[in-house]
Amino acid sequence: MSASTDLLIVGAGIIGLAHAFEAHRRGLSVRVVERDLAPNGASIRNFGHACITAQGGDLLPVAYRSREGWLRAAESVGFWAPAAGAVVVARSPLELGVLEQLHAQRGAAAVTLLTPEGVRARLGTGADEAIVGGAFLPADLRVDPRTTAAQIADWLASRDGVSIEWGTTVGGIDNGAVTTSRGEFHAARVLVCVGHDLDYLYPRVADAYEVTRCALQMALAPAPAGYALDSAVLSGTSMTRYDGFTTMPGYAALHAELVANQPELIDMGANVMVTRRPDGTLLLGDSHVYSRTMPPFQDEDITRRLVSEISTLLGRPLTITQRWQGVYASSPQTSLLIEDIDAATRCITVTSGIGMTLSFGIAAQTLDSLEVGAPARHVASV
Ligand SMILES: Cc1cc2nc3c(=O)[nH]c(=O)nc-3n(C[C@H](O)[C@H](O)[C@H](O)COP(=O)(O)OP(=O)(O)OC[C@H]3O[C@@H](n4cnc5c(N)ncnc54)[C@H](O)[C@@H]3O)c2cc1C
Repeated sequence: MSASTDLLIVGAGIIGLAHAFEAHRRGLSVRVVERDLAPNGASIRNFGHACITAQGGDLLPVAYRSREGWLRAAESVGFWAPAAGAVVVARSPLELGVLEQLHAQRGAAAVTLLTPEGVRARLGTGADEAIVGGAFLPADLRVDPRTTAAQIADWLASRDGVSIEWGTTVGGIDNGAVTTSRGEFHAARVLVCVGHDLDYLYPRVADAYEVTRCALQMALAPAPAGYALDSAVLSGTSMTRYDGFTTMPGYAALHAELVANQPELIDMGANVMVTRRPDGTLLLGDSHVYSRTMPPFQDEDITRRLVSEISTLLGRPLTITQRWQGVYASSPQTSLLIEDIDAATRCITVTSGIGMTLSFGIAAQTLDSLEVGAPARHVASV
């Protein structure tokens, strides 16, 4: 491929790859430049949950548009993406009240209320006796975070008009001229999709948006015998983390209840949730801590508490086989940072824990808004 392309994307996480997929679909030539030899950032460390329904405000339509993009990409690339939805478990009347309010706002097709028996039937025998009901969110999707980004990258790299430069670090960008550790590239437009490392390339932009790093503790365990649920499973603390829940009238009382009854979970910023990978292992998490420079040390008490919570929820013991820290970008000002640096360069960073959810919707919006000077060079069959 020539040194000049319609689009150059910095970063092969899900945000960069979704933009590359969408650009290719629209017939643009694309170069992705990634400093690592494979996707290795937030996009492989998460739950693989496209949390569509729990988004709120302006991001809700972006999430639904993203859902279409995810399904289209899954069909083209062939990765695992069951439309398995999510189960939100309520273990108090206040938790159930928030779900009922979301159901009233969105309708039964988007938020289906579940009886305690309906929740237990999904979670399996032994599920927590404290369950008072729940909701099923059918629009939510699942992917396997450990394999999906690499599959998308491999597929893109095999297509005419797309190249991926692995092991290549971008050091500077000036109106379409991109300086890297392996020489200079040129493009009509450059998209900077470097996630939480935005401050390394554009510290002033990161400062202006008060971008910091958010670190989460995660763990992996084999699923208990008979547990085969592909749906994401969320719980009461999950309702503190998504606008769809926090904007419900009953949320303040629910939050006060969690602070009173589960202070440890609130202090660690817990979102007690679980997803199952296609190999039968469970992704368990999570906690949240914020710092621009993130200490790498994980607190064993936090992991123990999270795993114990999920074990109680499922009513089965869990044996941890891996632990890891995931980091994403966070800003108190916005959940989606889009900033034009010059006429050709745009930064796109999701500054909240919803980058998997929004990726393909943001990509579609970006491509709608770009006026790439060069005409389309080929028509992609995706
Ligand atoms: C534990 C955890 C759980 C989460 N769960 C969910 C979830 O269930 N659902 C959801 O929607 N979201 C979730 N998120 C958030 C989601 O994972 C992120 O928002 C998303 O992955 C961010 O994607 P990204 O492409 O911006 O970043 P990344 O995946 O971090 O990719 C950025 C890439 O840019 C590259 N890069 C950086 N600087 C340079 C440079 N100078 N030159 C070249 N390459 C560079 C990096 O090497 C990296 O590959 C979770 C996050 C974590 C950490």
